Amino acid sequence: MYRYALILPLMAAPALASEDIPDQYPQSVLYEKPVQVIPNVYSAIGATAPPTYENAGHNNNLSFIVTGDGVIVVNSGANYALSKALHDEIKTLTDQPVKLVINENGQGHAMLGNNYWTEQGIDILAHVDAAEEFEANSYQILEGMKGYARDNAEGTVAQGPTITFEDSYTIDMGEMHIEVLHLGPAHSPGDIQVWLPEQKLVIAGDIAFHERMPPIFADTCTSCWLETWETAFEPLGATYVIPGHGHPTNMPMVRKGTYDYLTYLRGKIGEHLENGGSLDDAYYVDQSPFAHLDTFEELATKNAGVVYAEMEFE
Ligand SMILES: [Zn+2]
Repeated sequence: MYRYALILPLMAAPALASEDIPDQYPQSVLYEKPVQVIPNVYSAIGATAPPTYENAGHNNNLSFIVTGDGVIVVNSGANYALSKALHDEIKTLTDQPVKLVINENGQGHAMLGNNYWTEQGIDILAHVDAAEEFEANSYQILEGMKGYARDNAEGTVAQGPTITFEDSYTIDMGEMHIEVLHLGPAHSPGDIQVWLPEQKLVIAGDIAFHERMPPIFADTCTSCWLETWETAFEPLGATYVIPGHGHPTNMPMVRKGTYDYLTYLRGKIGEHLENGGSLDDAYYVDQSPFAHLDTFEELATKNAGVVYAEMEFE
């Protein structure tokens, strides 16, 4: 690997992620201190790596919008400690109270910190499918998180959303007009997008990945994900994208890391199926054009197997 040789001269560039970069904010349980993406919109960027004790499960983006009349948080993080740490950061930036928390989907790192916020009487908004997914799996994901986060898991109790929606949920708060959207099936049940049409910024959730390989789950429909992308996500016309994972960027970059990857992998698996290839060999289709992405080693072969199982019956 010549990764270090490539990265060291670039270390001064702020918008570069690598799973080899250790904790960026040792004073806090957060992996990185929140950065201001555009005026009044901030994000604490998670490690582009699997969850570990060292990153405390902060391996996705925890964002917030300072509206002028209250703060809206997107994602409660993988545990109580992360929610509290994010709240501490918010308090150093504004006196406005947090008024709503939004969960990007039903995964642990979107929802497990919820009980920190509900303890303070703050509502949690999520898509109805995300609520169901969390409800069904909360015991398992809570125990899984306790396994790696250890003392950082303290205080965490599984708490689902207090408000759910199906298609969209509009918020006008302070100077901000915010549309919380479910554009269609993507990475996991109940994926939502937080769209600021006036600022042309989307907090995309897990429809969009950057700098790390997207994981494809057994219940992920990759053809649906691509369709949602083409028919609804790309047409938003976002200038700024805060992806589910990786640094804030723009549409061409998340298209490369997500849409182009899914299209490429489906192409390779499709060819393999046409040639009568088996599942055993499908794991090893060539994914080298995406080998530079973080979590490649953990996910590439798994993704290939899942896409094979999906495409076998198309
Ligand atoms: Zn995620």
